Amino acid sequence: MPTRHAVLAAALVACLAPPSPALAAPAPTIIDRPIRFDQERIDLTKRYIRRHYGLKVKDIKIVPRAVVVHWTASGTTRAGWVTFNRVRMRAARKHLLRGGLVNVSAHFLVARDGRIYRLMPETWMARHCIGLNYDAIGIENVGGGKKWPLTPAQLRANIALVRYLVAKHKGIRYLLGHMEWKRFEKAPFFRELDPTYRNAKPDPGRRFMRGLRRALSDLKLLGRYTTPRKGGR
Ligand SMILES: [Zn+2]
Repeated sequence: MPTRHAVLAAALVACLAPPSPALAAPAPTIIDRPIRFDQERIDLTKRYIRRHYGLKVKDIKIVPRAVVVHWTASGTTRAGWVTFNRVRMRAARKHLLRGGLVNVSAHFLVARDGRIYRLMPETWMARHCIGLNYDAIGIENVGGGKKWPLTPAQLRANIALVRYLVAKHKGIRYLLGHMEWKRFEKAPFFRELDPTYRNAKPDPGRRFMRGLRRALSDLKLLGRYTTPRKGGR
């Protein structure tokens, strides 16, 4: 039995120890609004993984090492949700359809008022960023561009959400905007067998990423992949 003094001393140490930065922030409120992710979508995702990454997988689980931030380029949460709820890619999206039948999605959708919706399990693969899907959690923000500039409430929600994700998934080292994917093309975890399957993206804008990185600087997340130096010199 520890003495009363020892218990008090331990409690005092626990109180005084600085919490880790990722855990210090209050957890954001996350509302589950699952999109349709049925067996067909799972099978189509497996097919995508095999075709683009050369992996034959039993399930579509990922171990996230990055968070990719996006905008939907549509004005309402409903429109974003409906887009991602489709199992198969729309025929009109020809470039993406060439890459596979499974529809695009993301793990989170952040409304213009900052409400955070979780659309699918955080560790299932979503199709949201060419080359990084198998390693990244995707956050979509409703709006974007000149028409619907992303809001301060969305920035605050993204800050809280990334902190929550980094605290929960220990392998996350990178944070990037979709428009920055090229910074990762040399990374060993940039997986894409077809060298012609690429696209240029504007989302979520430099300003938003700057704000996000400034607020999260204590987490020391990397915004690009750099080759580790050999021999430590
Ligand atoms: Zn995007």
